Amino acid sequence: MVAGKRDHARVGSAPRPSLSDPILTRVGMERACGKAKAGRMQFPAELVEIEQALLRQEVTAARAADLIHAFRSKRGAPWTWKEWKKERAALIGSECRQCSSTDGPFVLQHLVQLGGLGHYVYALWVKEPEFQAERAARAAIGKTEKPIRREACPSCERTTIYFRSRSRTWKCSACKHEFTTPTKVMALSPEQKRRIAARKQAAFEESKLDYQSRAWDAVGHEAVLKWLAHYREYLAFTHATTFCKRCAFLWDEIGSRVCRSCGYRFFTGFHFCPKCETAAPTREELLARQAGA
Ligand SMILES: [Zn+2]
Ligand SMILES: [Zn+2]
Ligand SMILES: [Zn+2]
Ligand SMILES: [Zn+2]
Repeated sequence: MVAGKRDHARVGSAPRPSLSDPILTRVGMERACGKAKAGRMQFPAELVEIEQALLRQEVTAARAADLIHAFRSKRGAPWTWKEWKKERAALIGSECRQCSSTDGPFVLQHLVQLGGLGHYVYALWVKEPEFQAERAARAAIGKTEKPIRREACPSCERTTIYFRSRSRTWKCSACKHEFTTPTKVMALSPEQKRRIAARKQAAFEESKLDYQSRAWDAVGHEAVLKWLAHYREYLAFTHATTFCKRCAFLWDEIGSRVCRSCGYRFFTGFHFCPKCETAAPTREELLARQAGA
């Protein structure tokens, strides 16, 4: 999910983030003074500062998102970082943790995806009473429309029927039933249905108008903190394990897991290898193998 990337550029009316921002320069100073420790990859000090500023309510969520975005533009993708490459080299095993293959090369596979910030905001926003009330109001549109008596299919009672002048019979386009006399049901007219759909669409468009600012006001703070926590885990390779190229490909492209004993590829809905009766590995098992190795 990458939709978040574009989102925070639009958020709020804060000035464009600059790399001379006090939060980012203070960190630069600390790093120059040798405060960052060598060894295991540290969570970037810039992001720690942004997190702290959020917790102290010194910056708005939108501002924090802009600063995170500026940081990410400046540093580029983590896998291009020197520290990342070092960490990766230290953690990568010599055996695939899923299919047990010892044929390299191996990759360090992240088993949990990191979504964009906008994704985190939306996930929290849909749980908000404000969002749910709007959705319920849209669903209620047209509930008071009075159905009228209409001709329908005697078999399935749907109104999707048409008269065929040559054979002088009726046919239902839903269940294909043919008949000579339609039955009567109470249903909305096509005109009523069109009217309801148009009102629902208009209400939806209206709710979208200021969605960004309302959602960020309501849940932005929590969403950015969640994202930072998740990014910290991502950079610590908390949810990463050693995979062979085949397992990595199947996981990324098809979402398939692989049998530990024979390399059988589990299809969606299959939970046991037909040859070895082995269960498909869970994410927790794959991570435990990485940790135990
Ligand atoms: Zn971004
Ligand atoms: Zn493998
Ligand atoms: Zn029918
Ligand atoms: Zn098997």
